[in-house]
Amino acid sequence: RAKADGRGTYCFFREEMAHAVESRRILELDLRRALAHEEFELYYQPLVNLKTGRISTCEALLRWNHPVRGTVSPVDIIPVAEEMGLIVDLGRWILRKACMECMRWPEAVSVAVNFSPQQFHQRDVLNEVRYALEVSGLPASRLEIEITESSLLRNTQWTLDALSQLHSAGVRISLDDFGTGYSSLSYLHNFPLQKVKIDRSFLEGIDADRPLTLLRGVARLSADLGMSVVVEGIETNEQLELISADGTVTEAQGYLFSRPVQATQVRQLLAASHGSQSDAHVKALSRS
Ligand code: C2E
Ligand code: MG
Ligand code: MG
Ligand code: MG
Repeated sequence: RAKADGRGTYCFFREEMAHAVESRRILELDLRRALAHEEFELYYQPLVNLKTGRISTCEALLRWNHPVRGTVSPVDIIPVAEEMGLIVDLGRWILRKACMECMRWPEAVSVAVNFSPQQFHQRDVLNEVRYALEVSGLPASRLEIEITESSLLRNTQWTLDALSQLHSAGVRISLDDFGTGYSSLSYLHNFPLQKVKIDRSFLEGIDADRPLTLLRGVARLSADLGMSVVVEGIETNEQLELISADGTVTEAQGYLFSRPVQATQVRQLLAASHGSQSDAHVKALSRS
């Protein structure tokens, strides 16, 4: 009996595994097809400059309009695309699309594009970026590339060169999700980075007992090193007030201002942010 059960379990796992392998294979085929059929779309979420109260940048965030599954999150797409090696082609599409869409907006805001390590470590990353700027007509000064700490882990000399070349080309490099990964403070001064985005996990459970000491420390250090400082994931006015208090944080991003929206809706956000009728832009945006 025990033996039979054991065999049964083994067969069960074999089936589960075969099933997992099969659905993964289908997902991979589906992703390739989706890229060819333009089923991907970029949503945009604003970064608000805390001094002017205006939108400075819109971050491009990938969505997949799947014919059966509906809207698929990047969390379910990017890791698979990375493993398949599809991220290079997908990333190229994202970069060009983001530059082109940004060019159509009525205000000269910047666009931020997330780069996977594999994409950033391509030999010709500089040419990819130059080409996207050229075909779209977007000035380099309006493109921001968001990388994560995992992009800084390997090939240090190559990484340094690539960052310096991109910077010389006029593009800004932003370190995304700072504080979630390896979070070596040395990254902040060893690499030519222009911006740090402090992850929203730093905001968790902040109150009188657990003040913003850590966030403020990282923000001041980054500011002292000459970088702009962004705090991600601002959801409440209390959080906004806390991070704005000492003036080190230059920009904020989060649901308080806006969720990620479709490209066509960016115009409305820009109108609310840049329109002359509102003097309290930050508040106006967060109410809409
Ligand atoms: P990320 O670059 O750190 O983007 C911020 C994520 O936090 C977005 O999720 C955004 O919708 C979400 N978020 C923004 N404000 C708030 C807030 O106030 N509260 C909460 N709870 N969440 C907030 P999303 O769009 O699902 O993207 C998840 C991650 O997927 C991104 O994190 C980024 O790492 C990756 N990703 C998205 N688009 C791309 C892309 O085009 N290329 C690459 N390589 N990665 C991408
Ligand atoms: Mg990002
Ligand atoms: Mg982020
Ligand atoms: Mg994050």
